[in-house]
Amino acid sequence: MTENQSYKKCQSCAMSIKKDENKGLEANKTLSMKYCQFCYKDGEFIEPNITLKEMQEKCAEFFKIEHPVMSTLFGKKYITSIAKLERWTQ
Ligand SMILES: [Zn+2]
Repeated sequence: MTENQSYKKCQSCAMSIKKDENKGLEANKTLSMKYCQFCYKDGEFIEPNITLKEMQEKCAEFFKIEHPVMSTLFGKKYITSIAKLERWTQ
């Protein structure tokens, strides 16, 4: 792993950002290598004051609706993984 690696998942919510269309935008309109479109826009977090717990609850809800089967199997693991992301460990 190098400093300039592009991340496979958003470092705020753990959503996949492998595709460019899922990436957030920097202030200069380049794609963010770290955050998704739902967390990050124009170089800033969309919800700068959200807490880790709130983010986990939000993602749990979203995951349940989008992937009901996956959520039953991996929901807990996914939610736990959010706490280890860069935004929450700095
Ligand atoms: Zn995100």
